[in-house]
Amino acid sequence: MTDYSKLYVGVLALQGDFEKHSYQLNLLGVKSVEVRVASQLDIIDGLIIPGGESTTMDILIDRFELRDSLIKFGKEKPLWGTCAGMIMIAKNIINNKAEVKPLGLMDIDVDRNFYGRQLYSFEEKITAHLYDTDEEITATFIRAPGVTRVGKNVEIIAYYNDKPILLKQAHLMASSFHTELDDDTRLMEYFLKNILAHK
Ligand code: GLN
Repeated sequence: MTDYSKLYVGVLALQGDFEKHSYQLNLLGVKSVEVRVASQLDIIDGLIIPGGESTTMDILIDRFELRDSLIKFGKEKPLWGTCAGMIMIAKNIINNKAEVKPLGLMDIDVDRNFYGRQLYSFEEKITAHLYDTDEEITATFIRAPGVTRVGKNVEIIAYYNDKPILLKQAHLMASSFHTELDDDTRLMEYFLKNILAHK
């Protein structure tokens, strides 16, 4: 197994599903940091923005005075946005009645509750093209966002019903779904390998 013990990886811990990501990072021997203060971004090699509720996350990012620092971090260093996190790192949000202000990092447009509203969630086996192999992964969709436009520099790594659900643009990664809910760490390891390649 690759040695990840020298990596410091942050999980934005304002709201939502951050503890499950920290758990998976710890399983892999990575030092994880719950990020709530801008100065913490200076010491980490990569950051995960977890699932949760983008309207709340948007408000808390401003309340914790993190917006400019998150944008600067995402321009330079590996960042993975999952679910609400994907909404936050997108360039545009369509049908944006709640007026969530995305960070504008990845060149995609998203629709916030594309895969269902309220408590609606489902699990699907999807095929992700990770490096040179196709891996079958169980993806959990929880009021999941959909991707409605993909910029030309964005690589699509997995589809569900012909729609992109896992994407990569240079050091940035985004997923519509959750994979942190069990002990299957393959997607987390994919992110960590991107961090190692970027260092
Ligand atoms: N649709 C939610 C939102 O707008 C995201 C759901 C999730 O993160 N599981 O924030």
